[in-house]
Amino acid sequence: MVVSGVDDCRKVLADRLKDEAAICFFTGAGISTESGIPDFRSPGGIWSKYRIIEYSEFLVSETARLEDWERRFHMADCFESAEPNPAHVFVADMIRNGRANGVITQNIDGLHQRAGMPGNQIVEFHGTGTYAHCLSCGSHFEITAMRRHFEENEKSPRCTCGGYVKAAVISFGESVPDHLVQRSIDMIDEAEIVVVIGSSLQVWPVVGLLERAKSHDATLCIINRDPTPFDEKADLILRGSAAEITDNLGVFLV
Ligand code: NAD
Repeated sequence: MVVSGVDDCRKVLADRLKDEAAICFFTGAGISTESGIPDFRSPGGIWSKYRIIEYSEFLVSETARLEDWERRFHMADCFESAEPNPAHVFVADMIRNGRANGVITQNIDGLHQRAGMPGNQIVEFHGTGTYAHCLSCGSHFEITAMRRHFEENEKSPRCTCGGYVKAAVISFGESVPDHLVQRSIDMIDEAEIVVVIGSSLQVWPVVGLLERAKSHDATLCIINRDPTPFDEKADLILRGSAAEITDNLGVFLV
């Protein structure tokens, strides 16, 4: 079923979520566009400004590392000035009031946590842009400290152990840590309804989790502005703005 129009979407979503026992959210860059953070694939999105830097290129090329850091600093500024919007608040409310088990997010902006999401109920499948880590020993570093080093030395930062330091995002070609994959699988397997908010559902392997949800007959609900390759498999499609559809809805669903 495809629903459009904010009022109809809100009514259908509220009805559907009232009945379901176990809900899991699955979010993408589209949930944060109304906070002022561009998504990847919409016009004006990140791919219209930046090229892909593969993980293997980061490891062998200082030029690629410098390019990667410059965009990370730009994105960190963007994340810092953004505020969670009603869709992040909706997800946080649903989880805090026990109506949903957790959220699997592709986002690296930290806005779910800033909306009050308990940290132990979120899986950041593609890592986070809110800190950096050493690729050899795993030590954590503040992005601001890395920026100071970058500006003073005009070189990409290195850890005291000699390893390369990189923002803690999962780059293309980089493996997702096993513990994140396993936690996501556990959340999906517990879910009777999976609610996607703001994703083009084109990035693998993360969208394989939705195939898994369908294989155990979970209800799939997609809230997105544009069509996705999963629309045919979805039970409910709500077409429109994530923030408008979910605004203040969580409080009615306790
Ligand atoms: P995407 O750009 O491929 O797709 C975003 C989708 O959201 C589009 O289909 C668009 O129609 C929809 N959308 C945009 N604004 C919307 C709104 N206000 N309401 C409803 N729908 C809206 O993004 P994706 O599917 O998340 O792509 C995956 C990758 O993007 C991830 O790896 C993620 O790390 C990365 N990314 C993250 C951020 C972030 O953390 N905020 C920003 C850009 C990209």
